[in-house]
Amino acid sequence: MTPQTTVHKIAYLGLGIMGRGMASNLIKDYDVTVWNRSADKGADLVAQGAKQADSIADAINGADLILYCLSDDAAVDAVVFGAGGVLENVTSGQIAVDMSTVHPELSLKQAAAFAEKGVKFLDAPVFGSKGEAANAGLWIVVGGSKGTFDEVKPVLDKLSETVHHMGENSKGTSMKLVGNLVVAAQLEALGEAMILATKAGLNPQDVLGVLHVTDFKSPIFDGVGQALVKRDFSTSFALKHMLKDANLINRFAQDLNAPTPATMAARETIKAAVNQGWGEENASALIKALEMQAGTTVQE
Ligand code: NAP
Repeated sequence: MTPQTTVHKIAYLGLGIMGRGMASNLIKDYDVTVWNRSADKGADLVAQGAKQADSIADAINGADLILYCLSDDAAVDAVVFGAGGVLENVTSGQIAVDMSTVHPELSLKQAAAFAEKGVKFLDAPVFGSKGEAANAGLWIVVGGSKGTFDEVKPVLDKLSETVHHMGENSKGTSMKLVGNLVVAAQLEALGEAMILATKAGLNPQDVLGVLHVTDFKSPIFDGVGQALVKRDFSTSFALKHMLKDANLINRFAQDLNAPTPATMAARETIKAAVNQGWGEENASALIKALEMQAGTTVQE
């Protein structure tokens, strides 16, 4: 049986696209204090009922649960291990949950460091994007002890459609990289397919109509496909983060001798698009790098 959560007070660190959506959903049920490196991003959450702290120390002081969703390994290193960071200020009995997409080794490093302080730790990265974060529709994959998972799950339930315990620490971030391998391959496949279709004289909406119903359909083909033909690259998941993830997958797969040729092809496309200056645009902007090679544009 899942125990009732004893969590009342939550600190949320990192109010980017994902963090702010998650924090806003927690405000409804918990006493939430937020912190962000750039303080201006907290104003609307304060208006919704959150408290805003000026420092990590103030944010986590007295919190039962410390959640954070930050850009990358460097950001987690800074916030957790840096001067004035989480590790310096946690106290025994608190629980820390890293919701960022980072290398599984960093999850293990955090778990060990927190354990020395008597602090329980979960790696709990998320699938879904801006809309799912805002609407509590994420899919969360968790690594850590089953006991800690059971303690934290009622909170994660408030953010998500489903929550999956994948095993001990680092299995959440391992699963996240496995999933993003599929995402990268699907984006590359969609881009190549739509460009071939354009060169073949097919109507893009007709192509998307077929992709929508066939036995190889995918929500990514629907959502990104429609945005692509409308030339809407507004950011839900930044291309620069997709490159970060492709690089993480590469390192992770190398360590395990796992072959990832299709993902590495996608990584080259993503890198080319970032080098064109499109890193702040949506991950789907990788398709523009393929269009440059093709000398054509996919459009309605
Ligand atoms: P984002 O909008 O770029 O936000 C990044 C956050 O990290 C901001 O709060 C930023 O603070 C903070 N940050 C970066 N470097 C920092 C540092 N050195 N010290 C302190 N804070 C720092 O990113 P996001 O889209 O929310 O993504 C967050 C994480 O979730 C990433 O690991 C991403 O891969 C993962 N993710 C994203 C999506 C998505 O669709 N967006 C989906 C699944 C998973 P500032 O505001 O001060 O810059």
